[in-house]
Amino acid sequence: MAKRTKKKFKIGFLGGVGEIGKNMTLIEYGENIVLIDGGMSFPDDDTPGIDAIIPDVTYLRENKSKLRGILLTHGHEDHIGALPYLLDEFQVPVYGSEITLALLAAKLSEKKIDAKLITVQDGEKVLLSPFTVEFFHVCHSVSGSFAISITTPQGTIFHSGDFKFDYTPVDGLPMDLSRFGALGEKGVLLMLGESTNIERDGYTVSEQVVGDTFDKIFSDNDGRRIIVATFASNISRLQQIVDIAKKYGRKISFGGKSIAKVADISRDLGLLDIDNKQLVQIEKANRVPDGKICLVVTGSQGEPMSALSRMAYGEYGKIQIGLNDTVIISASPIPGNEKSIYSVINNIYMLGAKVCYHTLKDIHVSGHAHKEELKLMLSLIKPKYFLPIHGEYRHQFKHKELAVSLGIPEENIMITEVGWMVEVSEDGFSRLEDIPAGNVYIDGGVIGDNVEAIIQDRKTMSHDGVMIVLCQLGTAAVSEKDIDVIYRGVITNDDFTQCIKKQVAAVFKDKKIRKLPRRDIKDRVSKVVKAYARKSMKTTPMIIPIIVTK
Ligand SMILES: [Zn+2]
Ligand SMILES: [Zn+2]
Repeated sequence: MAKRTKKKFKIGFLGGVGEIGKNMTLIEYGENIVLIDGGMSFPDDDTPGIDAIIPDVTYLRENKSKLRGILLTHGHEDHIGALPYLLDEFQVPVYGSEITLALLAAKLSEKKIDAKLITVQDGEKVLLSPFTVEFFHVCHSVSGSFAISITTPQGTIFHSGDFKFDYTPVDGLPMDLSRFGALGEKGVLLMLGESTNIERDGYTVSEQVVGDTFDKIFSDNDGRRIIVATFASNISRLQQIVDIAKKYGRKISFGGKSIAKVADISRDLGLLDIDNKQLVQIEKANRVPDGKICLVVTGSQGEPMSALSRMAYGEYGKIQIGLNDTVIISASPIPGNEKSIYSVINNIYMLGAKVCYHTLKDIHVSGHAHKEELKLMLSLIKPKYFLPIHGEYRHQFKHKELAVSLGIPEENIMITEVGWMVEVSEDGFSRLEDIPAGNVYIDGGVIGDNVEAIIQDRKTMSHDGVMIVLCQLGTAAVSEKDIDVIYRGVITNDDFTQCIKKQVAAVFKDKKIRKLPRRDIKDRVSKVVKAYARKSMKTTPMIIPIIVTK
């Protein structure tokens, strides 16, 4: 019998578990690490002014010599968005499909970063000793998506990537189920499976169905201008829009930086087929009669700087929305974006246009497997151990329940969190000591230090304003005349100001205070003002004491 290897593989989570975003998983075996994906998260109301959130990669930094390569499942931001901030430091080969790497390369060239990008095909095997990596084409809302298997001397790990089973995909490339079955038959020790749509029953609808919905809208809106907002990276969706526009004799115009860029990249790669004659520059779109043009624009999530939002608020000089427009928003709101999307929709209605959005059936289909498809994937792969990923806790929890219902023993499934390191051995799963992990905030393209404190300051200022307390110290005792209070964003009145002055002056009655270091004097002043503001004004503004000598 072959001697069993002592080494065990470990899986570390730098992101993408307990959250949807910044996917980054590491697989470590002995002195070797491969990374799957390097994604970012988008900021929300809790992170005002932040441009992007990327994973903390301290662990990789400490183990840099072990890193053999980065494997990319697909080109969505939550899978590649962190790499422009990391590849300068970690100069290892990056493997992905042609379109994934083209999307990444466009980001890298903006930052003038060189990286070793290696294109892999569906079915290709790559040896990153001791790992053998194999790529499996999956259907998703961006072309060139992969699931990945990684074989280690201890067994095979399968990572589902983001996927759905689409038997009639627009690009004519369905998934080869027999390969997934064969992999499962050979034996998969551990599967990491995406959980995004575990709460949705049944199956996803094929992308083709969206085409039928569009066809109907185009035929019902003869003579009107049509504006479609959709995700830039969904090339199959773009292709369907282009084809239907062509069928109805309409030209196409792209509005918004990201959509124009993706259209260019995918045309170069032969993934998007548009006749030059059908294309019109957005600047010239107004010259085409309404019934002969279709504008394809960014902004399906109500993003404030997108083309659609700016059109809705009348800030997009080239195009004004009016009575003869039909606007199609081909997307579902990502949770958290509802408010901005609905305000865009409200504004478009106010401008007199018609709007078709997610309340209309099949105007958008998800790229993430529903429950029955997740069952199918687990049944094909038949893993011994299972880690639900790409979801918040409840998604992971429900995916675990689903796996149990399919016969995977509960003790062979683990719900992990960011920073967890898990080892698989003959005795089962074990959680090792956590690795450093968390959020790194990007503001203005810069990785900042101590950004958590800055975000807290921004939140305090935006909720409760700022109060500057200026104290002038002379040789005489400090009186109310020596104190000035300046407010920004604080609702107040003269009485409050007087009281604050009185209280701050009282601080200086203590003779010893003037002998203290400036920092300590400021702390005392802050404390008094803060206590007063909280008690009497029922607010907690940011307080900035300034002490000057007269
Ligand atoms: Zn995705
Ligand atoms: Zn994703």
